[in-house]
Amino acid sequence: MKAYRAILIPLPSECDVQYMRRLMALANLTYRGYLVMAPDMLRSIQHQLLGWRRFKQSLVFSTTPKKWLAKTWIPLKVHRISRTENVPNGKRVGDRTAPVVLDFTRNVIRVRQICRNQPRYSVELPMPKWVLKRVAEGGDVKFALAGVRRGRPYLVLVAEREVQPIQPSDYVLVVDVNSWKHGIAWALVKGDKIIKWTVERPDLDYVEKTYGKLVKLERKYGVFKRLGLHETPEGRKLWRGVKRRKQKLYAYLRDFAQKLASRLAKKAVKHGVRVVIDDMLDESRRKLLEEKISSDLAKIYLSGVRRFVKLFTNQLRWYGVPYEFRRLYSTVCPKCGTKMKELLDRVMKCENCNFSAHRDFVPVMWYFAKL
Ligand SMILES: [Zn+2]
Repeated sequence: MKAYRAILIPLPSECDVQYMRRLMALANLTYRGYLVMAPDMLRSIQHQLLGWRRFKQSLVFSTTPKKWLAKTWIPLKVHRISRTENVPNGKRVGDRTAPVVLDFTRNVIRVRQICRNQPRYSVELPMPKWVLKRVAEGGDVKFALAGVRRGRPYLVLVAEREVQPIQPSDYVLVVDVNSWKHGIAWALVKGDKIIKWTVERPDLDYVEKTYGKLVKLERKYGVFKRLGLHETPEGRKLWRGVKRRKQKLYAYLRDFAQKLASRLAKKAVKHGVRVVIDDMLDESRRKLLEEKISSDLAKIYLSGVRRFVKLFTNQLRWYGVPYEFRRLYSTVCPKCGTKMKELLDRVMKCENCNFSAHRDFVPVMWYFAKL
């Protein structure tokens, strides 16, 4: 089984975004099966254009753009120069004319001819630690992608690894994914014992305070707009403030999701576990709206949660950790299957069999349920 992981790296601002956009459009045409000729482009790039056709059926680039001239990332081959003691200039693997060169002898990445339509134009980037880690784990960066996102040029490196599934120990990691408000609960289980149980949440104080400030600023901007003053320097300043705060908040949650995913994946590898995940996010959304939380704040509480599941399972695949999705209820009794009542402080109680537990803990009990 092959597993993939990818990293997004910003390219220097000297890259010609218009030229890269054109390459993306040409890549799009190539995906559609057209033979693309671009006589005003460099020979080496024309050669790559023809080569892209072969990527069409490849696993990595299996997504077909939905719309005409939709944004398609530019598929790139990667030439690798690895450090070895016997070969002074490094061992070379892959097409020598590839636009991306990973040079492990100097720990740099060279990107050739993708940034500008100029002969021999290349940019050099420091090798990210991420690449060194993936290579140390037995991965190989055979493919890359380049493209423009929100007006900025980026390079994506794709690491590939042949995975041998690990033989799981008798440990199980049970993960119940909710909105950030109620957090991501996980339990490490061995046989019929719970070794550790905890709920992971971002700093909710920070999230709520920032959101409060955001709402105030947005209201103020609304007043400016109604008065027709939103184009004045002060109105624009307000708008920029709103945008900046929003971006900061989303970035914070994205970062939290990313760090938590890799921390839990590491835990899974360390204990050689099997992973059971419940990711019913529709239910989490409903729960938030039932608590009379505004749909805007609900959106913030759920932002990055799906990304967490994606990153987490992707890393489990990479390390060969087996996982499955299973429904773990929080309001149904794990002993008898009756709908439970919520008492004060999120304690759930079953009126049929008297089972009671904290709402965040019920899903873990569902892992043991024999219903
Ligand atoms: Zn019950």
